[in-house]
Amino acid sequence: MTFTEQDHPDQRQEELAQRLDAVQQRIQKATVAAGRDQAPELIVVTKYFPAADVQRLYRLGIRQVGENKDQEASAKAAETLQLEDLRWHFVGQLQRNKAKSVVRYATTVHSLDRPRLVTALDNAMQTALAAGEREQQLEVLLQIDLQRDAERAADAPARGGVTQDQLMPLIAAVEESANLQLRGLMAVAPLDEPAEAAFARLAELSAEVKRQVPGATWLSAGMSQDLEQAVAHGATHLRIGRDVLGQRPAAG
Ligand SMILES: *Cc1c(COP(=O)(O)O)cnc(C)c1O
Repeated sequence: MTFTEQDHPDQRQEELAQRLDAVQQRIQKATVAAGRDQAPELIVVTKYFPAADVQRLYRLGIRQVGENKDQEASAKAAETLQLEDLRWHFVGQLQRNKAKSVVRYATTVHSLDRPRLVTALDNAMQTALAAGEREQQLEVLLQIDLQRDAERAADAPARGGVTQDQLMPLIAAVEESANLQLRGLMAVAPLDEPAEAAFARLAELSAEVKRQVPGATWLSAGMSQDLEQAVAHGATHLRIGRDVLGQRPAAG
């Protein structure tokens, strides 16, 4: 007699279901605590975990996943093409020579941080649209460097992003592009300061950007360890890895 899958329920599936449930409860609680009537969207960051986990998450209702390296992301996207309404968010440092690849699978790039990358993505989009490789504009978020000036001068590890004075020129560059749609801002909390204070500054900056570009309403902030603070400061998109998938094999 052979065993069917039903005799052996997938343990990883069970584990992911439980972890996801716990994270969703935290988000719900934080949403209520913040007096918000809508919970932010959950993007599960699947870096370091196999495409099989993306499939398991999909079965649990997840429709948005994030990755931070093009090579890994493009391979996983190719393995999960049958999941048609799955959206891929690129959240990592992006090199210009990866733009062509990223626009083939990503609906959204969260880590836009320099004018030359605007040009590279815009050109890559032009080609992809002409070739019928995609139909929609690329949604982009501008990554903000939340480190305070004093710390930035010291040798604190760079986490990417533009400083406040580089932001307006970058917005202008995206507005001038043909194929990029500015959706809002993204940030990672700095290591040397409570997330609360950093996200409060981010929220102010987001309000300012919204006054200038009314469509730029997204605020991508909040990871496993600081999702509550991000929800309190108006995050519309949370990027959660570890607390849904478990400990990653290496730092990343
Ligand atoms: C890995 C990563 C996340 C997820 O972080 P966790 O601590 O695993 O929740 C979010 N954003 C970016 C940019 C990441 O690289």
